[in-house]
Amino acid sequence: MKMIAMDGSNISFFKEGLRLDGRRADEFRPLKIEVGVLARADGSCYVEMGGNKVIAAVYGPREVHPRHLQEATRAIVRYRYNMASFSVEERKRPGPDRRSYELSKVSREALEPVIFTSYYPRSVIDVFVEVLQADAGTRTAGINAASVALADAGIPMKSMISACAAGKVADTIVLDPMKEEDNFGQADMPIAMTPTGQITLLQMDGHLTKDEFQRAMELAIKGCRDIYEIQRKSLIEKYNQLGSELAVVQEAEVL
Ligand code: UDP
Repeated sequence: MKMIAMDGSNISFFKEGLRLDGRRADEFRPLKIEVGVLARADGSCYVEMGGNKVIAAVYGPREVHPRHLQEATRAIVRYRYNMASFSVEERKRPGPDRRSYELSKVSREALEPVIFTSYYPRSVIDVFVEVLQADAGTRTAGINAASVALADAGIPMKSMISACAAGKVADTIVLDPMKEEDNFGQADMPIAMTPTGQITLLQMDGHLTKDEFQRAMELAIKGCRDIYEIQRKSLIEKYNQLGSELAVVQEAEVL
């Protein structure tokens, strides 16, 4: 089916029922998660979600600077989303802008409800997300990476957070839109949630009917559940590996 894109060119979003990158409507892009990639961070994670490459680093709980930001009864959570100037087709001007302030705010709000902030009064948990390569869905890739990095840092959490978007292109609801679908599609709806279904982020760009919204929610929720399994496995893998390394060290000490 042909669509007229915003820049006037013709885009065929589907070929023989499959999307531009060969996916079905209900499939998300290949997801790779690596835990503990930065030596100096308390927790870290590298995520590839299709063409997105993001890294998350967590520091803390640690002393708050400037001090007037500290809260007497809980830790504050800071989240900085930053897109590298080389991460997009047209060089992005370095430094914060309206978009990065918005994404930092909504991403922090997506994670904060599961963090036991009351355990660490007068401290801060800092989360940095750096987008190295962008292909739409960087906020969801960043939240997925940050959630794993928080767990890697040993921050007590009620549960993990998994994030994924659904969109509408050529009147079809699709999971995890890539750049062409996001930029020239009819709607984009990122969500984040706990494995038990508590939604902590819900945004929407564009228009969906009530039925389309329901279908998009169904797809995005299923996407988040599958992503959660991959996050969990990546953490288990890292700690299994640490466990076997520790066993080797203990064995060497006994000998
Ligand atoms: N994008 C870009 N330049 C920018 C901002 C965004 O090329 O300054 C691209 C980038 O690929 C990004 C996509 O547009 O992933 C969609 O951006 P959006 O603001 O919808 O956020 P995202 O989907 O990445 O969470």
